[in-house]
Amino acid sequence: MANKPARFLNFKCAKCSKSVQVRLQKVSACTHLQPYQGICDCGELRRHATGDKTAVEAFVATGEIHHHHHH
Ligand SMILES: [Zn+2]
Repeated sequence: MANKPARFLNFKCAKCSKSVQVRLQKVSACTHLQPYQGICDCGELRRHATGDKTAVEAFVATGEIHHHHHH
């Protein structure tokens, strides 16, 4: 997959079902994760990420970007 990540994506808020815009966060040279984050009008934080499955799950769960520990 050589898709360039979109800078903005839209999701429905889990709480109020309004549309939430999430923005691509700055990442390091490692491109195994493209993290997105945004906040709904109701204050609910919305996280999304694409890329490595483990890194995506860790980011969505904790908001932390895990870098490679095994170079
Ligand atoms: Zn909301």
